[in-house]
Amino acid sequence: MSKKKSKKKKQKKNYSTIEQHARQGKQLIPPFMQIPNLKFNSWVNDRLPELLWAVLLISHLDRERAIAIFRKAIKYWYNASVSSPKDLTHTALGELGSEQLREFLDFLCADPNVKTVLRPLCLLNDLPGKEQWQGAINNEASIEHWDDIALAVGKSLNNQSQEATDCRWVRVYYQIVIGKLKLPSEELVKEIIYYPNFGNMRKVRPSIRALEMGLNMIEEESSQWSKQFWDQCLNDTPCRDWVTSKKGEITKTGTTLEIIKGTKEELIKHCDNTRITTAVDAKHDAVFGIALYCLSILEELLRVGNSTSVVGRLGLRTLVECYITLAYLYKKDDPELWLTYRNYGAGQAKLTFLKLDQMETKPEYVDVETLQILAGEDLWQEFVNINLGHWENSNLRKMSEEAGVKSEYDKYYSWTSGYIHGQWGAVRDTVFQTCSNPLHRLHRIPCEKHNELNDVIADAALLMDKVLESVHKMYPDFLKRVKI
Ligand SMILES: [Zn+2]
Repeated sequence: MSKKKSKKKKQKKNYSTIEQHARQGKQLIPPFMQIPNLKFNSWVNDRLPELLWAVLLISHLDRERAIAIFRKAIKYWYNASVSSPKDLTHTALGELGSEQLREFLDFLCADPNVKTVLRPLCLLNDLPGKEQWQGAINNEASIEHWDDIALAVGKSLNNQSQEATDCRWVRVYYQIVIGKLKLPSEELVKEIIYYPNFGNMRKVRPSIRALEMGLNMIEEESSQWSKQFWDQCLNDTPCRDWVTSKKGEITKTGTTLEIIKGTKEELIKHCDNTRITTAVDAKHDAVFGIALYCLSILEELLRVGNSTSVVGRLGLRTLVECYITLAYLYKKDDPELWLTYRNYGAGQAKLTFLKLDQMETKPEYVDVETLQILAGEDLWQEFVNINLGHWENSNLRKMSEEAGVKSEYDKYYSWTSGYIHGQWGAVRDTVFQTCSNPLHRLHRIPCEKHNELNDVIADAALLMDKVLESVHKMYPDFLKRVKI
């Protein structure tokens, strides 16, 4: 899949890069949020329900016809002798006097097709000016009409879809017609007036969206009606699962159990062959120890189901941490530092032992006696210091920079850490799915069986090979690799 993506012609990105963010203390602020006093107003949450009449028309009628109706509606207010509404939103229309609104709606619904398409509006309990809408539509709506609303809303949920852009154009055009919106160039005015038949649409459509968004920044409050609309949608329509299937996606194997076993045997042999003392050899133990630890993790990842599980991500995260640690130790290659790495581990064993030893109820997953042995293996426990910080007074990111392996850190560390820490992104990715009812704004609902996550083996095998490469650099020759 990644290959397919990289083959694609590079498209213009519609998001801000990291460089385009401004750093403020420990936060990276996107360009939009750098504008002072910006009002939050979302298309889906606030503005779409306000244009529901237009959303229905554009989705259920032929496009040209719907646009012609929009023009007619706007022209109506241009020619009206009474004062026009401040917008063509449901709320603004609802603020009109009841007679004024009814007259407009009768005009709009003079076309029987419009009447039919707008009929689902009668389902909505809190629709502003509901009585007038119902009077003009002059028909009851039934529960099946929810489907018509769902279809229309579904087409407009994406604020850049053609349907959404057409509806957003209605607001912009209206503001120009009533003289509230002045545009900087005649060209732009023409593009709006003759939309969608004048100018380059690839430029005009984004202009419309930007202008329409700008209209909201001067609006004072978020819409009460929109909230009522979404609340009713949740109460009156059910959640829907997506029918999805990952079938047909072929995951690259990465490595096999047989290769891991063979590599392990050779690594143990190589460890024995390169041992030169029975005294503490912090470097030798660390290099082979970390490599064998990584191989064990990779072996566990290959057990059925693990590679696509949450735990698979935890395994990958440990592999990258091991690799960065080893790369850092190799880069420094300082006998004191190899010892620091080792002694830190002994100190941690001692600290945990001392804490657990005082507890009446001890946890099951660890044997306290083993901890004591580990703590005192190299040196009598009473001589072992406990380091309460990071073993190298650093952090993994800095270490990866110093070791020249920052790209592995960026690729594998942050996102997998999210799984370790139970951060929202990981939680969202694992146990929730998106409800496919458009009337529920693509909200999240729990899945019965947690989502199958991407397979980690190919990446894990790649990191494993980097670890083995480190072994080879420090204790040549070790040429066996696991990735296929
Ligand atoms: Zn739902």
